[in-house]
Amino acid sequence: MDKEMRIKQLEEDLQRANEKIDELETANIKFEAKTNRSLSNNIFDLKESVIDNIHHPLVILDDKLKVVFANKYFLKTFKISSEEVQDTLIYEVKAAQWDIPQLKTVLETILPSNSKMTNFEMQVEGNGGTEKHLLLNASEIQLSGTDSNFILLSIENITKRKIAQNNLKKSQQQFRDLFYSTTSLIAIFHGPDHVVDMANDAIVKVWGKGKEVIGKPIVEILPEIEDQGLVDLLNRVYSTGEPFHAVEKPITLNIDGVIEERYFDILYQPQRDSKGNIIGVANISSDVTKQALLNEQIKKSESDFRQLVNFMPHKISIAGLDSKVKFYNQSWLDYVGLNLNEFLERPWLDIIHPEDKERVSKEVAQHLSNGEPLETEIRLLNKKGDYLWHLCRSNPLKDVDGKIYSWLTSSTEIQKLKDDEKRKESFLKLVSHELKTPVTSIKGYIQLLQSILPENVETDSKNIPVKPYLHRIESQIERLIRLISEMLDLSRIEQNELILELSDFQLNEQIETVVEDLSFSYREMQIDINHVDQISVNADRERIGQVITNLITNAVKYSPDAKKVSIRIFKTDENQAAVSVKDYGIGIALQEQQQIFKRFYRVSGNKDETYEGFGIGLYLSNEIIEKHQGKIVVKSEPGKGSEFTFILPLK
Ligand code: ADP
Repeated sequence: MDKEMRIKQLEEDLQRANEKIDELETANIKFEAKTNRSLSNNIFDLKESVIDNIHHPLVILDDKLKVVFANKYFLKTFKISSEEVQDTLIYEVKAAQWDIPQLKTVLETILPSNSKMTNFEMQVEGNGGTEKHLLLNASEIQLSGTDSNFILLSIENITKRKIAQNNLKKSQQQFRDLFYSTTSLIAIFHGPDHVVDMANDAIVKVWGKGKEVIGKPIVEILPEIEDQGLVDLLNRVYSTGEPFHAVEKPITLNIDGVIEERYFDILYQPQRDSKGNIIGVANISSDVTKQALLNEQIKKSESDFRQLVNFMPHKISIAGLDSKVKFYNQSWLDYVGLNLNEFLERPWLDIIHPEDKERVSKEVAQHLSNGEPLETEIRLLNKKGDYLWHLCRSNPLKDVDGKIYSWLTSSTEIQKLKDDEKRKESFLKLVSHELKTPVTSIKGYIQLLQSILPENVETDSKNIPVKPYLHRIESQIERLIRLISEMLDLSRIEQNELILELSDFQLNEQIETVVEDLSFSYREMQIDINHVDQISVNADRERIGQVITNLITNAVKYSPDAKKVSIRIFKTDENQAAVSVKDYGIGIALQEQQQIFKRFYRVSGNKDETYEGFGIGLYLSNEIIEKHQGKIVVKSEPGKGSEFTFILPLK
């Protein structure tokens, strides 16, 4: 339209120019008579007055398509001098930029057919190789006073407009691609009846209809949505201009007669015209059915889990990585007599027995940092104000990448067990005490009998081997005495009554003495001592002797087929005293190696009848060494043997 008007304008300009030319022609005829100047010269004088001053590139071509005149604006626009164009074929002007076959054809037909060329677009190379778009219009003109016909060619630079148009086209295409290819569901409704103006493939598919939806009101396409309040929502957005947003909204759709419940995230956005009036509503939604069903399932399984956890008699809690508890089950709430919020606000250390607090805090901090499961016994305060023993097990909860995000703790009341244990311990203590006196006196009598028998006499008058028998009785009594004192030590440890009697002594000597005594009982065993270093320590001589005895006794006991035990006394790299007892017996599996230091722990598979024992020897040894600020370590391989090493600080 714009261009046509311009052409019209040009034509009018030309018309005026023609009139002017006519006038001038008349004048010229008169003048010619006087001066005999050529007509053409007069015509081209006109350029100053009209064409030359038109703010538009113009050229006049003769019938050979040679430039007879180019206006100032043309010369300026194409950066060319009038000499360069004058009398030059239009196709040869400025490096033959306009040597375009199509242009040629059109221009060549203008004069013979008295036609026009309207809005011929062409692209030429501009400065620095940039593209330049030109719009050409041409028509035949007649200049009075000449027989020849001329072509008036107007050339408009439309590069900017063209580029803007191209960009607009490109972005429209991009928008269209996006609109139709996105998985988001998009439809644009028009007017108060929400007539579908645009609907992308994704939404048409969800509606279960074809492209015929365009131009129809939405209720006509999906009558089922009216009762679900969606049309009211659209009306509201249309009338108020307030957008509407919903997450996981269930919508029932009737797709080809099949009723389906789907879930959508919905946005109804008002659409406005340039004046700001609401003209429609855009529906931008996503089908989140899968995710919603999954969320529902998660919610359900979470509720199942909560019910299960609340139903359990065990006390279950979940804590974050900062050890702050986030959840307690019903069993916990019943125990403490608080509701969940009250209990969550209370620091958990509050309900721990004052004597356990420090130990438990340390254990928790250590396990939080190393991520290992924790098992510990704690006294916990109930609503009546009593502390009851609990066995608490904490396990880290890990995400798919193995990263810990929470700790799950189950606490089981073991008060009854503890009470039973206590009774058992008191009973054992009592029995051990009661047994100790008679057994000691039996040992005394045996030693007396042994001393009565002459040295070289092995049998009595009736040839009965009295001396070997007495020896056997003595070693059994020794075992019994050891057992009784272990029992007594056990209850001493329980009651924190194991007191060390420290003195300075030579570790090497003490070990020699113990080995000497034991060799007497284990005649068939070869027990070697390697004194790597001479070491004196400040320790409880008897207790250290008890530990060595226990380690050697075990080494012998658990080596049914080997005949050798090796002892080494040496200083560690950290300059500590160390004694190792190595055997070549049955060995201990890795997973058992820490367990064996627990009270009454015996490796299952050690058949009781094969290896007698109670599982307290190592427990006692460990307690004794720990009381000396030392430690016992074990290295072992099943089938190859074990090496127990105790380490003591030097004085
Ligand atoms: P026990 O009276 O059962 O020997 P301990 O506390 O001394 O009790 O040892 C605990 C358990 O450790 C034993 O039952 C045994 O399974 C294992 N054990 C101890 N020492 C050895 C060893 N030298 N070789 C193999 N197993 C051993």
